[in-house]
Amino acid sequence: MPASRRFRVLVLGGSAEAFDLAEQLAGDGEVEAITAMAGVTRERRAVPGHVRIGGFGGPDGLAAWLAAEQIDAVVDSTHPFARQMSANAARAAATAGVPVIHVLRPPWTPQPGDDWREVDDMVAAARAVPASPCFLTVGRTELAPFAARRDVVFVARVIDRPDPAPDFTYVEARGPFVLDDELALIERHGIRSIVTKNSGGPAAEAKLTAARRLGLPVVMVRRPPPPDGVLVPGAAAALDWIRGLSHG
Ligand code: NAP
Repeated sequence: MPASRRFRVLVLGGSAEAFDLAEQLAGDGEVEAITAMAGVTRERRAVPGHVRIGGFGGPDGLAAWLAAEQIDAVVDSTHPFARQMSANAARAAATAGVPVIHVLRPPWTPQPGDDWREVDDMVAAARAVPASPCFLTVGRTELAPFAARRDVVFVARVIDRPDPAPDFTYVEARGPFVLDDELALIERHGIRSIVTKNSGGPAAEAKLTAARRLGLPVVMVRRPPPPDGVLVPGAAAALDWIRGLSHG
């Protein structure tokens, strides 16, 4: 690499960790980070540094983009449930001969007093909803299976209201969420059960604390299998990996 050229990293974003990485690398003298976002939400959190919006056209499109942009490393810092993009990142990086890591934050684990019903997917989650009204926090693209539960009133929290929208009550909000607000929401809607994905991390954890405190059952959707390859638990470890490569 010429001395004048910075080490170029593609960060596949859509997570708090990707935001942290972008913040820490903005203006860095040695590393140039480009954060890629799918562009699925109507309004995006402003990410520091270079940002690229939109898909790459599958693993082949991404591999071609990595080569054209002379990317030196890829950090897959997508959400733990974004399994397609993680798989694409691994394949594309292998094709382009570029090193890749996957940032995968630890999942939540049940604490004493929790009443979790763990399931593998949204269809099973919908079947498992034990009490109405139910607070649904699975994202706007995963609501369809729940519409089959005519016996349950759903209060769905989403960043953007879906279109078409199942006949639920919608709360449009973006995390992080704090305990007092979660308790207030639960009380306001008379919530008696919660459905969530096991995203892990602090930003959406308060609802689980609220459920524990109130004795509410939680239907917890397990994660998909992790991607093959090198996994790190957060932005700090990803930064160490980048620094190790850029100095090497
Ligand atoms: P996905 O199913 O794994 O990916 C679907 C397609 O979206 C990919 O094939 C890719 O299109 C494009 N894509 C995904 N992430 C991208 C990124 N960071 N930059 C550019 N293109 C991207 O993903 P998803 O579950 O729909 O999630 C979409 C985005 O929302 C991701 O960035 C993810 O981190 C974020 N997110 C997801 C969840 C969740 O629960 N799934 C929760 C919070 C945030 P091409 O094949 O055309 O490249």
